[in-house]
Amino acid sequence: MKNNDVSIIGAGLIGSLLGIYLQKKGLNVSLYEKRPDLRDKKNATEGRSINMALSDRGWKALDKIGLREKVAPFAIPMYGRRIHDEHGETSFLPYGKENQAIYSISRGKFNHLLVDEAEKEGVKLNFEYFCEEIDISKTTMNFSLPNGEKLEKQSDVIIGADGAYSSLRDAMQKQTRLNYKQEYISHGYKELTIPPTAEGEFAMDPNALHIWPRGMFMLIALPNPDKSFTCTLFLPFDGAKVCFDKINDKSDVESVFRTFFDDAFLLMPNLVQEFFDNPTSSLINVECFPWLMNKSLLIGDACHAMVPFFGQGMNCGFEDCYILDGLIEKYGTTSWELVFEKFQKVRKPDTDAISQMARDNFIEMRDSVSNPKFIIRKRIEAKLHELHPKEWIPLYTMVTFSDMKYSDAYAQGQLQNEVMDKVMSDPLIMQNWHEVNYEDIISQIETAKMV
Ligand SMILES: Cc1cc2nc3c(=O)[nH]c(=O)nc-3n(C[C@H](O)[C@H](O)[C@H](O)COP(=O)(O)OP(=O)(O)OC[C@H]3O[C@@H](n4cnc5c(N)ncnc54)[C@H](O)[C@@H]3O)c2cc1C
Repeated sequence: MKNNDVSIIGAGLIGSLLGIYLQKKGLNVSLYEKRPDLRDKKNATEGRSINMALSDRGWKALDKIGLREKVAPFAIPMYGRRIHDEHGETSFLPYGKENQAIYSISRGKFNHLLVDEAEKEGVKLNFEYFCEEIDISKTTMNFSLPNGEKLEKQSDVIIGADGAYSSLRDAMQKQTRLNYKQEYISHGYKELTIPPTAEGEFAMDPNALHIWPRGMFMLIALPNPDKSFTCTLFLPFDGAKVCFDKINDKSDVESVFRTFFDDAFLLMPNLVQEFFDNPTSSLINVECFPWLMNKSLLIGDACHAMVPFFGQGMNCGFEDCYILDGLIEKYGTTSWELVFEKFQKVRKPDTDAISQMARDNFIEMRDSVSNPKFIIRKRIEAKLHELHPKEWIPLYTMVTFSDMKYSDAYAQGQLQNEVMDKVMSDPLIMQNWHEVNYEDIISQIETAKMV
């Protein structure tokens, strides 16, 4: 059939999932990935497991192609944030209603599973194919192979799922008036581990996302099926009292952890070694437009890499696949340009909104969650949602436990914020919060929505 050869560059989470979706549509999909096959044991990243929070939008995209049952055994539910203060005391802040959870899953295992499924579906897998150049007008790609060989491949359609440093986006920048903005934030991150206890058990509550918020920086931990936790330390690179630049030896590491994360420190026997063995990575936000040129399209991080503080980058990329699939169902593949146009039009306002919310949420995670006033604010919002589930939906719930458009969630969240700012400005709110007039708050939000 004409128009049916699809090449996807990048076999990360989004490229692999998209490959399955498109092959199931009867298209002829080839995946090109610069890294070696991650299913090959010798290529697994030694001792390091990065994990992700999978939430409703991600599950919905998996459901559509029947993958929920295959993924679920690898996913651990986290029902809320467990906040660790500087004295080792913890408190629990639920994410939503009872049984609403986000799920911790190892990125490596998840990617492995999706690549396996893509292969079973009939997707042609090409590992160690580094895409160097793309001619968009001819839809040709030039790859270099590990032995130095150069190969040219032609395809009806090219989709760039090759992440924040996309080669397709580079090619588009040279050939069209593509606007592009990238921003590194001041903080970087490092992965560390809390191993299982000597008895082989989880060292902390496994059904929570643990946070040590410390104002300008924080540590988080997500559970793994092997009963360890993967921790991520977010610190400024430089210019602050506590920053990566000022941690240079064993005693610096121990001093920072003893001072700020003492309860975690006691659970991290390999801390110093891991701190110096594991890389310090940067965090980037990428925005660009347009996302298409002729029969080439960007998807996932390639067009909207975001900071990880709302746990939505992958979920949003999965939602991209779901939406693109729906548009192919509606418009067919005789005009890819039309499908791609519709895709970027519907998606761009939503990815802009979630990128902004991800940046905003950094302040909430590293700072506000430890503020008693913030905790009361969240309790009032939870009660409002319980009493008026349709009229008041907390922002976190709209983003994480629903599939409403990110841009609608953002707009509604802004209105709710204004109303809650007024409620919280009462100087006696900390004493009187049990007596707030919920009906009055609802009528305020209803009025705000009409204006
Ligand atoms: C610390 C951290 C924590 C995160 N936590 C979460 C979370 O909890 N929940 C969530 O939803 N999201 C999270 N994210 C975001 C998530 O990781 C990304 O949004 C997601 O991985 C994007 O997938 P992708 O397939 O678009 O890009 P990538 O994962 O970057 O994959 C791109 C693939 O393309 C390949 N490639 C690149 N260039 C070429 C080339 N020239 N030729 C061939 N192949 C190429 C790469 O090797 C790679 O395999 C987090 C991100 C970070 C940094």
